[in-house]
Amino acid sequence: VNSCIFCKIIAGEIPAEIIYSDDFVVAFSDIAPKAPVHILLIPKRHLRGANELLTDDAELLSHIFSAANVLAKKFNIDKSGYRVITNNGKDAGQSVDHLHFHLLGGKDLGDLVG
Ligand code: AMP
Repeated sequence: VNSCIFCKIIAGEIPAEIIYSDDFVVAFSDIAPKAPVHILLIPKRHLRGANELLTDDAELLSHIFSAANVLAKKFNIDKSGYRVITNNGKDAGQSVDHLHFHLLGGKDLGDLVG
């Protein structure tokens, strides 16, 4: 989608620190990290949010969570623990309308989910 900043990152039109990529998924560092490890995992295909996920997207989701596990190991938070979250819509504070999963870790993340 033309105006989507995450589509522009995938296309290489906006710089990002890309740390993982496969046929389905791209992962890069969050520009405003909320934890020592804060990585965004996004599908290469534009989906507005988790609300657009269907049973057809099982392969995409398995790639996203598999990539999260690989990155958790790579960034040494697999043992200490981490959180994977997605914000959907206004009340959840979704600010970019391209489905993304936050991988957060490296500190005590507290009780709040997000
Ligand atoms: P959300 O609030 O769940 O929609 O998360 C959007 C996230 O995208 C925020 O944590 C932002 O810091 C992050 N973000 C926005 N623009 C960029 C960018 N150009 N590169 C990396 N992260 C970004």
